[in-house]
Amino acid sequence: MIKRKKTHAVDVNGIIIGGDNPIVVQSMTNTDTADVDGTVAQVLALAEAGSELVRITVDKITAAQAVPIIREKLDQVGCSTPLIGDFHFNGHKLLAEVPACAEALAKYRINPGNVGRGKKHDAQFALMIETAIKYNKAIRIGVNWGSMDQDLVTRLMNENAELAEPKSAKDIMFDALIMSALNSAAKANEIGLGKDRITISCKMSGVQDLITVYRRLSNECDYPLHLGLTEAGMGSKGIVASTAALSVLLQEGIGDTIRISLTPEPGGDRTKEVQVAQEILQSMGLRAFTPAVIACPGCGRTTSTYFQELAQDIEIFLRKSMPQWKQKYQGVENLNVAVMGCVVNGPGESKHADIGISLPGTGEKPVAPVYVDGKKDVTLKGENIAEEFQELVERYVAERFT
Ligand code: SF4
Repeated sequence: MIKRKKTHAVDVNGIIIGGDNPIVVQSMTNTDTADVDGTVAQVLALAEAGSELVRITVDKITAAQAVPIIREKLDQVGCSTPLIGDFHFNGHKLLAEVPACAEALAKYRINPGNVGRGKKHDAQFALMIETAIKYNKAIRIGVNWGSMDQDLVTRLMNENAELAEPKSAKDIMFDALIMSALNSAAKANEIGLGKDRITISCKMSGVQDLITVYRRLSNECDYPLHLGLTEAGMGSKGIVASTAALSVLLQEGIGDTIRISLTPEPGGDRTKEVQVAQEILQSMGLRAFTPAVIACPGCGRTTSTYFQELAQDIEIFLRKSMPQWKQKYQGVENLNVAVMGCVVNGPGESKHADIGISLPGTGEKPVAPVYVDGKKDVTLKGENIAEEFQELVERYVAERFT
């Protein structure tokens, strides 16, 4: 059992981050926010995939003007997923010039490294916080390794140079990241924004760096933490690096909301980042989103592709069935289905699942025993094993999750 670190809770239009609440899955669009229809379509896709919060870029006046229209269109089709505005450089201006944008967003992401330099920094930061107070919005102080508060870094570097035993440049960067986040949160609080409106992140692209910084952050504050490896990358590299970093932290009870920053392949599906986030939480037993398929990797004992095809068909069948099942069958996301390739581990693994099938390996009798709740139920044979197994799964779900 993972014991979560204690944080206070932040309500983002009904989605609660922190406290004892389930870890929230969030994602971000990659459309031009000024493109209302394109952004609405992507927010809907991300929300349907299970993103509980969606962040959108607000980088120019046309994007800010589009935000209330996007919110309205989403509401019209019954999508209430809260929108988070991602601001850099000109957020103070956009929020002031387009009050409807400030109102329509549920939360503002503020990067203290990108709110202006020198004297402008504090004034522009204060303007954003005052807007959050005025409209009763939550914020994330989102520090990023790639856009540090340069004034703070320079000051810390200079102070370090005076020390008898100076720290390494990397340690100073870690100090700067954490200090930037915590000082900004304290400043927001001083201006009048309640602690229950503030979440924090300190994103980095190195797995070990991220783990080090979040361990420290979690010891030094009780703000809900937004976890994510920034610029994780493409394909399996991005998935593995994000999973490696987040798993360590989540196992230690650190993290209240997660986002997986995958670079989609050209033309790739943005919702992949939501699926990966859900799979990390589900694999760790922190949340359940969709029935799990336990499939063996296959080996020389199962040389046909039949076994892989069946495992894939079942996976697709479960995903497609879930939207309806979720309405009808309470707890169905906890279902375990096993699809195994031969007699070596097939019967054993199938017995551990709620329902499992052990397919015949090479040279075995062409029959496939099905196990239900640990007991052999029926043996399938012939041409339609896949369809018949799906029917059995459907029946099992209807009987068990009423
Ligand atoms: S269950 Fe059979 S087919 Fe699957 S990996 Fe094990 S030995 Fe190979």
